[in-house]
Amino acid sequence: MKEVEINVDLNHREKLRRLHTATHIVNYSARKVLGNHVWQNGSNLKAEFGTLDITHYDNLSEKEIYEIEKIANETIFENKKVQVEELDRGDAEKKYGFVLYQGGAIPMKKLRIIHVFDSDIEACGGIHMQYTGGIGIVKIIDATKIQDGVIRLKYVVRDYALDFISDRQAILNEACSVFTVSPTQLPKTCEKFFNEWKEQKKDIEKLKNQLKTSYIEQIISSRKKSFLISGDWDMGFLLDIFNSVVNEIPSFKLESEKFIFATNDLKVEKFKKQIPKGKFNIYVM
Ligand SMILES: [Zn+2]
Repeated sequence: MKEVEINVDLNHREKLRRLHTATHIVNYSARKVLGNHVWQNGSNLKAEFGTLDITHYDNLSEKEIYEIEKIANETIFENKKVQVEELDRGDAEKKYGFVLYQGGAIPMKKLRIIHVFDSDIEACGGIHMQYTGGIGIVKIIDATKIQDGVIRLKYVVRDYALDFISDRQAILNEACSVFTVSPTQLPKTCEKFFNEWKEQKKDIEKLKNQLKTSYIEQIISSRKKSFLISGDWDMGFLLDIFNSVVNEIPSFKLESEKFIFATNDLKVEKFKKQIPKGKFNIYVM
């Protein structure tokens, strides 16, 4: 006779048990917050997170997600008993209606009915906690519309929830240290810097345009055939100057650190790349 060794990963099973029970709780909480049109449309469990697809017409707001999470966690903190009731299919349908089958149809004569709350009733063959307290804590980490009328909630429980919160705290602290402000000051500080940056960008554009005009006037009045602009200017800035000048001085060369613009009659030596532009060339230095 052959010996067969069977290993049951109890740790993994325990994780799934917590996560699966949390699925019932999140589903119930979502219905409580969003309304009775919320129906379980599917769910998927990995050891580290679970997803629950619910029927709902709109994306969820931050406040709605917070409310769902709050009700779900209160249920965990209250350490409710998860009731399991076995009923014949006919009796079960008469007693509870088709809400039983929101987790999917179950082809059995006898149904195993799970109650996490008075109003959360679902026929389910999955593994459950005896009490909700063992879930520890549930954290909704994402809510995305996956198709019209279906929102996917992604959530973690217990140590995975703590890790998620710690990771977010670390990111927040890192961002705060950039500005040397406290977390409560961070949103206002970001807004202030962003607005300042936008204003400065506008100022820079204005100054660049003034400088451009000044260069053009200076070159044209000097009638110089070659002009050197010091500084690390972008191609667009130089091109605007060059185009304005060649209207007045048909043979002209504009030099900068990175680029040389020269009409076709003028030779340029030692360059990395030549870009022909019809009546002139751009040389990348
Ligand atoms: Zn279940």
